[in-house]
Amino acid sequence: MTGGDRPTDTVENPPELAVAVVEAETPGNVGTIARAMKNFGLSDLLLVTPPELDPDGEAYGFAGQAREDILPNATELTFEELANNYYTVACTAVPNEDPTNHIRYPAMEVGDLRDHLAGVTEPTAIVFGRERVGLTNDELTHLDALCSIPASESYPSLNLGQAATITLYELRGLSLDSTQHPDELHRRAPKPEVERLHDQFAEYVTAVGHPEPKREKATRMFRRLLGRAQPTPRETSTLHGLFRRGVQWADGSHPGRASTDDEPQDNSPTDKRTE
Ligand code: SAH
Repeated sequence: MTGGDRPTDTVENPPELAVAVVEAETPGNVGTIARAMKNFGLSDLLLVTPPELDPDGEAYGFAGQAREDILPNATELTFEELANNYYTVACTAVPNEDPTNHIRYPAMEVGDLRDHLAGVTEPTAIVFGRERVGLTNDELTHLDALCSIPASESYPSLNLGQAATITLYELRGLSLDSTQHPDELHRRAPKPEVERLHDQFAEYVTAVGHPEPKREKATRMFRRLLGRAQPTPRETSTLHGLFRRGVQWADGSHPGRASTDDEPQDNSPTDKRTE
């Protein structure tokens, strides 16, 4: 079973992704963005008229390990250079539903941005705006696409650093080959092992004297339960051992019936530990 942020999510030949910040006012936000870039595998930070980034100040303080590389290597450029040299995606809190006015329309939701960019081949910049006024309408007319993080209708405006963090998280499939999570967190027991457990359970249901008319329902329920749970080899073999013991207990054949310290047998070669 694989989860949503596994490398299986990554895209072949993703575009080169940069992050641009236009006229940020707060050095701490620039530091937060640099840190998020490092977290999600990006390195190219573009700054249009940034605030002063003092190595002893907030930007470096907020940047974590990005203080070593992303922040000192950030590139200053003009808005025109940004707009002319990159495929640009403007992040805005305020999209407009009005299809007759294309300044803020159409804006895709951030969850769709990864798939949108998967087909883009030119260098791409995700553009964030000023803390107070965001990106101006005039700037937006020069940027290629619009993206917005869905949030409360009455207060959709996130903090700049947090907006960038969410956006870069959503794009991680384009920028990270792997995460700290292993590819496969949950190994499912092979089908024959699960079927063996079903057979053992059916035997158990009979052996413990479950009323005949209810047996089929119980085994069906157990199949649905395992179907949902997708047990590991270890879970499967432990349950198998317990039901087998139940059968032996019921028919009096269990050698240790008088004691309770007899562990269920474990037939899985990968699974030799005691429960
Ligand atoms: N009132 C401003 C808010 C600026 S917040 C505005 O009208 O945009 C600073 C920056 O954070 C924005 O320019 C944008 O790039 C980003 N941002 C904040 N909230 C966002 C959201 N819900 N979706 C996408 N970007 C957002």
